[in-house]
Amino acid sequence: MAYDLLIKNGRVVDGSGMPAFRGDVAVENGKIVEMGKLSGPTKNTVDAEGRVVAPGFVDNHTHFDAQVTWDPLCSFSPQHGATTVVFGNCSLGLAPIKPGTANRVAEFLSYVEAIPMNVLGTVDVEWESVAQYMNRLEGRLGVNVGNFIGHTTVRYYVMGDDAQKRTATDDEIKQMQDVVRDGMKAGALGFSVSRNRGHYDPQGVHIPALWADEKEIFAIADVLRELGTGIIQCGGGRAPELKDGLMARLSEATGRTVIYNNLGQTMRDPDAWKKHMARLEETSAAGIRAFPLASPNRTTQHFTMKNCQVFRGTPTWHPILLASDEDKLRAYRDPAVRAKLHEEVVEHKGTKLPAAGYSLKWWDYMWVEKAALEKNKSLKGKTIGQLAKEQGKGVIDAFLDLVVEEKLETEFMQAEINVDDEAMKQILNHPNAIIGLSDGGAHVQFHGGYGYCTRLLAEWVREKQIMTLEHAVRRLTFDSASALGLYDRGLLRPGLAADIVIFDPETVRPLPESIVHDFPAGGWRVKEPAAGVFATIVNGQVLLKDGEHTGALPGKVARNTYYNAHNGK
Ligand SMILES: [Zn+2]
Repeated sequence: MAYDLLIKNGRVVDGSGMPAFRGDVAVENGKIVEMGKLSGPTKNTVDAEGRVVAPGFVDNHTHFDAQVTWDPLCSFSPQHGATTVVFGNCSLGLAPIKPGTANRVAEFLSYVEAIPMNVLGTVDVEWESVAQYMNRLEGRLGVNVGNFIGHTTVRYYVMGDDAQKRTATDDEIKQMQDVVRDGMKAGALGFSVSRNRGHYDPQGVHIPALWADEKEIFAIADVLRELGTGIIQCGGGRAPELKDGLMARLSEATGRTVIYNNLGQTMRDPDAWKKHMARLEETSAAGIRAFPLASPNRTTQHFTMKNCQVFRGTPTWHPILLASDEDKLRAYRDPAVRAKLHEEVVEHKGTKLPAAGYSLKWWDYMWVEKAALEKNKSLKGKTIGQLAKEQGKGVIDAFLDLVVEEKLETEFMQAEINVDDEAMKQILNHPNAIIGLSDGGAHVQFHGGYGYCTRLLAEWVREKQIMTLEHAVRRLTFDSASALGLYDRGLLRPGLAADIVIFDPETVRPLPESIVHDFPAGGWRVKEPAAGVFATIVNGQVLLKDGEHTGALPGKVARNTYYNAHNGK
């Protein structure tokens, strides 16, 4: 017997957190069969000299529900080393769907997750049930996929338009339980709900999941307790967890793991992460599995003063942001207006803080990304605060002098979320936080996010050394797979699936974003490539080599423990 694949001479980081070792990894029939110094016959060899051989990453929070039907790779996740992606998050999904309602269901996904409707309109919805949707995906996948059953989708399926008008009757709750039970028996990884009050449909009405009361949520989640499988995912879970422990109560009532959005740091409320972490200590001490996701990515805003939304809601600035470009320029030249702006957003007189879009010292977290005029090119990367200091002006004068001179064309960047390195060190290392939250396949025209794995390895491990490489790999693989109930992946171990990423620890990193026109119906999106990822291997087959698709489609639908136990897997 020959191995199907032998990966030679790598630095094996097995996902358990144990020390790396130099050795070979052998694969047969899609599974790892042995590790060590191996010399058996093999059909294929990959030389991993100087590179790390690790379990494939588990991209645990995505919205690829539609994209997977035309892009079996779920790009750009595997480009960054992901071998499994999980969608159906935040109560949204594309199953079940009653015949004739696909467009309406797609509207919820489109509006909340910013995926253009003309792109979603190309999806040929040939399924009704969750089981049929999963079977439609099987056999046409580059990466492995897991899916949650979305509460919004289920509620709309059972209640129709009433799903956005009222609470459910007992009979409707029972019907929703039946739909979720069928989907869980077909192998869905769990049930996703939402408490994110900012999630609306295109008509400006809250999505169906937000119309549910706690009674309904607990009743449906109880199906998972009854079957003894699956997890509960919650979009916007942080606020209700801090208010009255909803996440912990859901986990306690069902005995299932709850994963929710999110633990992060923001300059707008600088100590909020500490309060959240204190709450995690409490739930952890009580033996409850309610885990927030945490992203190694910064949240950035890219804007000009033509489309700026940062100062929305402040008395003087708000109407200026809505005015014509000429009126904006006129206002920004006016010393009286500037004096008012200074009072409101620099001295914060009479303005309630923290406002939605900026922190107390926002000028330290906003910088020139691209100047419009040649003479100002050297300002790139300077914060507004630096400009003011260098020019001996007030913040508003320094900011608006540039804006007026460049006729609103200056490109700015703002980053106030996940920018405090000491906070991030504690967050990314917290055992109850699950690293992830790429949001892959969502907000496709605004930012990438796929690169959270390569960013952890590059910025937080190689540059800032907040954790060891072994620990980082464990965070991206075993921890995530365990939380999601994917017990046959996330480790390099004989008998487990051969999901493997080979990367160069000295060069691995996310590369700058660009625009690519590769969606159906001529749609465009933001592309985020990676450097230093040598190969992404799924179920023993090389899916990507140096970022290029080999043509293989080795992915599978990852199913829950109940399905596996009842179907002899
Ligand atoms: Zn989401």
